[in-house]
Amino acid sequence: MTGSAAMAHETAYEELSEFLLLPEEDAHPVHEVRGCVCRQCGGRSFKVAVMAEDEGSVRRTCVSCGTHGFIADSAEFWDDDEEIEVCACTCGHEEFAAAAGFSLYEDGESDDVRWVYVALRCESCQEIGVYEDWKIGYGPSGLLLDQV
Ligand SMILES: [Zn+2]
Ligand SMILES: [Zn+2]
Repeated sequence: MTGSAAMAHETAYEELSEFLLLPEEDAHPVHEVRGCVCRQCGGRSFKVAVMAEDEGSVRRTCVSCGTHGFIADSAEFWDDDEEIEVCACTCGHEEFAAAAGFSLYEDGESDDVRWVYVALRCESCQEIGVYEDWKIGYGPSGLLLDQV
């Protein structure tokens, strides 16, 4: 990876992180953010799909090597037979840098995850948005932070 590409990825992750940590009304506060990195090739550019009917399952596909990855517990709910929707930016572009924000329970007794937010940053126009969010609400679920 060239230096400028690495820097661009750094900027994308910083912006995604900032965006996810911004307190929002009607949303659970995000405590932890993890950037998505392809486990196969280290790529950070993805095409992203969600289930059309059900919330709570996000599949990312590495633009460089085509490897699929699932965010948090998405693999459990993904169904190839169901209709999927490919995420597209308002500008029409379909390749993104991605990060997951995790809202944790604040009782201090566990590191269980309450809610997951998946934010994508368009690689063409840099617009960031939350494309999917869902409740986890079971434990132990702290390990989901490593599944992005
Ligand atoms: Zn890859
Ligand atoms: Zn865009």
